[in-house]
Amino acid sequence: MENNISMDKLVAFSKTVGFVYPGSDIYDGLANTWDYGPLGVELKKNIKKAWWKRFVQENDNSYGVDAAILMNPRVWEASGHVQSFSDPKMDCKECKCRERADNVIEAYCAKHGIEGIVPDKMTNEEMDAFVSEHKIACPRCGKHNWSPIRQFNLMFETSRGVTEGGQNKIYLRPETAQGEFVNFLNVQRTTRAKVPFGIAQIGKAFRNEITPGNFIFRTIEFEQMEHQLFCKDENAIDFYNSYKEKAMKFLLDLGFNPEKLRFKDHDKLAHYAKAACDIQFFSSLGWQELNGIHHRSTWDLSRHQEYSGKNMMYTDPVTNEKYTPTVIEYSIGCDRLLLATLLQSYREEQVGENDTRIVMGFHPVLAPYKVAILPLQKNLSEKANEVYRKLSKSFMCTYDEAGSIGKRYRRQDQIGTPLCVTIDFDTLEDDTVTIRDRDTMEQIRVKIDELENIISEKVKF
Ligand code: ATP
Repeated sequence: MENNISMDKLVAFSKTVGFVYPGSDIYDGLANTWDYGPLGVELKKNIKKAWWKRFVQENDNSYGVDAAILMNPRVWEASGHVQSFSDPKMDCKECKCRERADNVIEAYCAKHGIEGIVPDKMTNEEMDAFVSEHKIACPRCGKHNWSPIRQFNLMFETSRGVTEGGQNKIYLRPETAQGEFVNFLNVQRTTRAKVPFGIAQIGKAFRNEITPGNFIFRTIEFEQMEHQLFCKDENAIDFYNSYKEKAMKFLLDLGFNPEKLRFKDHDKLAHYAKAACDIQFFSSLGWQELNGIHHRSTWDLSRHQEYSGKNMMYTDPVTNEKYTPTVIEYSIGCDRLLLATLLQSYREEQVGENDTRIVMGFHPVLAPYKVAILPLQKNLSEKANEVYRKLSKSFMCTYDEAGSIGKRYRRQDQIGTPLCVTIDFDTLEDDTVTIRDRDTMEQIRVKIDELENIISEKVKF
């Protein structure tokens, strides 16, 4: 059984079965862009639906927004992104590649067993000195000839209007969070929500990453799922801890292996932050960040109050107390969670002496198709179509009548379909079908009328 699939193998597999294709494929692609195929798009929708259910629908006092990607540029001044949303970059003067200095140093230390070096805590000058002292070579060409380390702003710029004069510079948002902050009062007034309450959003974000890569792990365009909890400062640490738990529970409930998840406190806190941690996921990439939970104090609302000139304070309807709420942010990349889901779900199983099968062991709620309808023979297709039409009113279904039944089961296993329904000649007599479970491969005979309940039970989350 294999469950530590390499990234190259996953990329090839995803393309072959239709999860994710390289972007602009017929033009030889555009580096680090990816298109979701028929299975990927369903998987992604299901991830977003499960997240929304957990963090909006079932989460007390939480509300959704869908803010514009293009925002007034003052937003990004207030948030600090214009000034400091940057990573330290250095260019190799030999092969002209651009690298993140902190990543290069981390990789060097890991390789040489050097402990206690935390690039996040170093200035650019300190990193320059470390790179020179250790004669760290370019990971691509092996030479040591670096430009000085400089901060590189990750925001994508564009301009608004018909002329290209560049006077009207605007940005593609690098995070969705500001859409929640600027709508704090709109949401509070229209819902009459009392603090503590939350605002959630799922949407695209764009970052001009210095070293994107590892498939959809780090891309220049991606989707985030973010939840901002607005609370009184005195309760904030308790909420921070409870969001850590909720974030972890969400992953465990989706079937993630607890041994492959861990909390990691940030080495360096933003000056306004009181606490911050990530949940990391272990895969063939090693331990990597999956999501962040941040105690952001009153920074966001105070800054928007300062830059917009609008009062962003909350008035307690009972005590009349006026204050700026503290924010606990929970932020997870949808594409990164999808990648972790693919990595976690892939397995190859020995079934019989000379037979193996690939199984995508998705939690049924995430599976692209919930059920496959398989007529045993082509002349049963009328009845099979009837069942397909009935079930597809409630679930995403697929239909397959090509090849042996064994091959068809395998095809469904490798795209993670939790249940297969087989129509045979007895079905015509007594309206019963065989239902086969992806994981146990067990088959039972049930009435067509029972199918809807059985599938609903299976895909519960
Ligand atoms: P990293 O340290 O990996 O660059 P970050 O700490 O900058 O991430 P946040 O700004 O906290 O990330 O963003 C929240 C989440 O958005 C991350 O935990 C990750 O899941 C996702 N994310 C961030 N950058 C990217 C990217 N370039 N591509 C895909 N997902 C991303």
